[in-house]
Amino acid sequence: MAGARRVTRIDDLPVRDELRGKSPYGAPQLDVPVRLNTNENPYPLPDALVDRITERVREAARDLNRYPDRDAVELRTALARYLTRTSGHEVTTAHVWAANGSNEVIQQLLQTFGGPGRTALGFEPSYSMHSLIARGTGTGWRAAPRRADFSLDPDTATRAITEHRPDVVFVTSPNNPTGNAVPAETVLAVHDAAQAVKPTVVIVDEAYVEFSHGTSLLPLLAGRPLLVVSRTMSKAFGAAGLRLGYLAADPAVVDAVQLVRLPYHLSAVAQATALAALEHTDTLLKYVERLKAERDRLAAELTALGYDVTASDANFVQFGPFEGPDGARRYWQRLLDHGVLVRDTGVPGRLRVTAGTPEENDAFLDAVRALKKEHSG
Ligand code: PMP
Repeated sequence: MAGARRVTRIDDLPVRDELRGKSPYGAPQLDVPVRLNTNENPYPLPDALVDRITERVREAARDLNRYPDRDAVELRTALARYLTRTSGHEVTTAHVWAANGSNEVIQQLLQTFGGPGRTALGFEPSYSMHSLIARGTGTGWRAAPRRADFSLDPDTATRAITEHRPDVVFVTSPNNPTGNAVPAETVLAVHDAAQAVKPTVVIVDEAYVEFSHGTSLLPLLAGRPLLVVSRTMSKAFGAAGLRLGYLAADPAVVDAVQLVRLPYHLSAVAQATALAALEHTDTLLKYVERLKAERDRLAAELTALGYDVTASDANFVQFGPFEGPDGARRYWQRLLDHGVLVRDTGVPGRLRVTAGTPEENDAFLDAVRALKKEHSG
């Protein structure tokens, strides 16, 4: 209504108790010259791929009078082929499920294996959406700590599992926002400790794995029907705008998530676009190599400037320390004043910077150097 004043606040509405007083996920989307805050791939898609997407979407457009392939079989087959080729572990169509971003994959997993009366456990600091999606699906949330260096201690993890008896456990590797990967032995310790209590779904969130120095944990799926690996095309494939996430797991898990997925959840346009992107995997993975080199350069230069940098296997770097209760916040603002947007993830005394293009990273490093001079000058 034109001119109508908004008088109702969320808390005036009969929202569910657990949503009262809460804030939505919200990385600031600010219009600044250098945006290094949401772990996106900075490279636009190459022209040849844009052309292929256009062709594929054009074909799909003719059939938009019909619902899309509900089971996304062609896409799941292409994703399975990609996983097999890059991990050496045989993955078939029946092992793969796809949805609108890995956030939706995680939501479907929590709708299936979590929900009211059940709990999920994560090792924090980690990806904040795990707990938010738990809340949205009525799943209780328990957090266990990481070590001071942000690695995951198998003994602490085991104790937390024994104490909380979760139905779902999240292990993010490489972890966001800290960047470090979790070794396979630790994931196995977590998995085995959880199964010793009760059948527990263990979700390994590998959103950033293509940027890792090591390898995917996919081979661990063999013989472990409650282990799930979630992946995304938002980072390595440079397709955050596409909203395409997927999982690999035992075919029974794939069957189980069908119980909660909305019919035709993945549009024909998204399926066509993702298929086109997968045809260009090799080109896209070359950008990943460039970003890994840039990530390592950022880490080396920040270390040389005297910062403490968390070893990163992802396309971002966590650095600090910034002293004082709002030290990270204040440094974030000062970088923003220099036209550089990074992320204040809420980890005390730390900020996270996404590896951008060489020019963007230079602008960030110039700003850091300028701030250092201002500080000492
Ligand atoms: N997992 C992790 C660890 C992430 O950092 C992100 C995105 N920032 C996601 C999952 C979700 O990605 P998407 O929904 O774009 O696939």
